[in-house]
Formats: sequence, C-alpha cells, structure tokens
Amino acid sequence: MKINAIQADITQQEVDAIVNAANTSLLGGGGVDGAIHRAAGPELLAACKQLGGCATGDAKSTRGFKLPARYVIHTVGPVWQGGERGEAELLMSCYRRSLEEAASVNARSVAFPSISTGVYRYPINEAAKLAVSTVKQTLDAIPSIETVTFCCFSAEDLAVYQACINQLTR
Ligand code: ADP
Repeated sequence: MKINAIQADITQQEVDAIVNAANTSLLGGGGVDGAIHRAAGPELLAACKQLGGCATGDAKSTRGFKLPARYVIHTVGPVWQGGERGEAELLMSCYRRSLEEAASVNARSVAFPSISTGVYRYPINEAAKLAVSTVKQTLDAIPSIETVTFCCFSAEDLAVYQACINQLTR
C-alpha cells in the first residue's frame, strides 16, 4: 500500500521526510511543531530562521538534523474559522505542496501529522478526507514517492484516517 496510517510519534519515524504542522513564522510553536524542534535540536530553528516564514498552504524544507528523518517539510495549515474562509483549499494545498517539496529533495518515503486538527481546530473527519484524497491524487503525478504514512497521535485519529484510506484508496 502506497498510503497507510499508524499511531505513533512522528519524531521517531525513519522515513526520508517528515512533515511539520508549523505556523507562518516557522520559528517554532506547540504541538507537533514543538516536538519536532525538541527532537531535531537547535540547528532546526537556525535553519528555519533562514527561510523567512511560510504562507498558509505553502511548504518549505530543511534538513532533519538529529531526527531519524533526513528532511523536515514545514507546512502551514489553515486555522479553522467555520469552513467558509477557504480552509479546504488551503489544507489541500498543504498536502500537495508538501509532497512537491518532498519530491524536490528526492524523498521516497514521507510521514504526515494530522495538519490543522490540533490547536487550529479543523474538524478531523473533514480534514482526514481531504488529506487522504489530496495525497492520493498528488501521488499519481509524483511516482518517485513510494510511501506516505499518516502518523496519528491518538487511536481516535488513527481510526478516522484508516476509514478514509479504506474508502478512498481501494
Ligand atoms: P495545528 O496547529 O496544525 O492544528 P497541532 O500540532 O496543534 O497542529 O496538531 C496537529 C496534530 O498533531 C494533532 O492531531 C496532534 O495531536 C498531533 N501531534 C502532536 N504531537 C505529535 C507528535 N509528536 N507526533 C505526531 N502527531 C503529533
């Protein structure tokens, strides 16, 4: 299976690239962003400072430093504001742009967290559907990426992603 889901800490994933759900400053935050910076070490923040921030829906890459992953793709998800502020398009753009960045550093395996569904409050069911369908569609155009793993923090999130994968990729 090209697309799969697991329950795990993304900072421990031995893949070519992990995706970070960052904020527009790229200067660190809480949640998965904080965990990735802690695990990668201070060199990651220094590298992020060179990037000059990142727009919502876009993605930029750095090395992974102390992480098992060689690269970190930093993307900025939309804050949920009710669904009428372009949130869906921006979330789809995060997954698409992250995979394009991953391909540009020659990553063949990529792990994603559940972008925007933490502090940014995007409803998990809608977010997971968009995540899985966008990744599936984007991979058709990027054959160099062999596996994409949705790395869920909770068992509840894993169940939602697994159901979407079963529905959308079989
Ligand atoms: P956002 O601001 O985009 O909502 P958060 O970091 O608040 O980002 O949450 C995104 C998702 O990442 C949430 O499901 C959260 O539980 C999850 N998460 C937090 N820490 C980790 C981690 N170490 N590995 C994988 N997922 C994590």
